[in-house]
Amino acid sequence: MDIKEEIVRVFRVMYERYMVSALSGNISVKIGEEGMIITPSGIHRAFLRPEDLVVLRFDGKVLEGSGLKPSSEWRMHAEIYRVRDDVRAIVHAHVPYTMALTLAGIEISGLAEIEAIFREGLSYAPYRPPGSVELANIVSKIASKTRCKVIILENHGAVALGKSPTEAEALLEALEEISRILFLKTTLKGMIENIHNRGST
Ligand code: 13P
Ligand code: ZN
Repeated sequence: MDIKEEIVRVFRVMYERYMVSALSGNISVKIGEEGMIITPSGIHRAFLRPEDLVVLRFDGKVLEGSGLKPSSEWRMHAEIYRVRDDVRAIVHAHVPYTMALTLAGIEISGLAEIEAIFREGLSYAPYRPPGSVELANIVSKIASKTRCKVIILENHGAVALGKSPTEAEALLEALEEISRILFLKTTLKGMIENIHNRGST
């Protein structure tokens, strides 16, 4: 499959699975040593076409334009590629269950699946404004640890690193599945406790 088509398909999968909404998230693939193909900013994810993608150098210079603005997170993508030679694709999404748990202060741990998939590969980045140089710097610093596969961005979303957009998206899906299970478990436990408490009063 053509790499631009793969990016567009991965976005559609994430959109259909409620991992991104119309205007959130972004995807890139490294090309050559100093450049990447990246999704445009502010374009509906379900209707994105391969010809809408932008080819950008790591310093922000557009090499092949579609006329659309590159993702506002291009610096974060570029800085991750600069520190991680093995990473060929990056996927960012505002994964809702993962966000809900982290916003509620619930740690994503305690499931065998987390151990199996992520080992030491799951990291957290403190809040920095979306699209900022500060976000690019803090995320790339964390990503520079070789085992790092997924970074949860405080009060924002998550970023997955892979060899292809498909591989990186699969990591985010795994994270979101784990989060959904933990969310359901926490909710159910709360409901059961409520019933017990009512029964004992
Ligand atoms: P872009 O549309 O500019 O890629 O922004 C989406 C996003 O998720 C910002 O963090
Ligand atoms: Zn975002």
